[in-house]
Amino acid sequence: MNSNHIPDIQIKEKSIEINWPDGHKSSYNPKYLRIHCGCAECVEEWSNRKLLDPVTVSENIQAVDYLIVGRYAVQFLWSDEHYTGIYPFETIRKLCKCNECSTK
Ligand SMILES: [Zn+2]
Ligand SMILES: [Zn+2]
Repeated sequence: MNSNHIPDIQIKEKSIEINWPDGHKSSYNPKYLRIHCGCAECVEEWSNRKLLDPVTVSENIQAVDYLIVGRYAVQFLWSDEHYTGIYPFETIRKLCKCNECSTK
């Protein structure tokens, strides 16, 4: 059992799989995570206004790699060379669209 609460992240060709320390498993479409990037380039900080137009993100976007940031977040390196997005684990978990999470 993972005692440090860092989820296990696997990058697949068409999805990003996350195994959470509590046993929950999430599967994300790469584009879906990419368009939810919360960095200053994608979301205007003071107004929370979205600056990223989802239409400009390729359907074939992939995560090339990722880094764990501190103990609270993951930074994906996307195939469109967007590297600045840091996704807190809490935020990613809320983006899970599985049946269990979407009925809560
Ligand atoms: Zn971004
Ligand atoms: Zn879920």
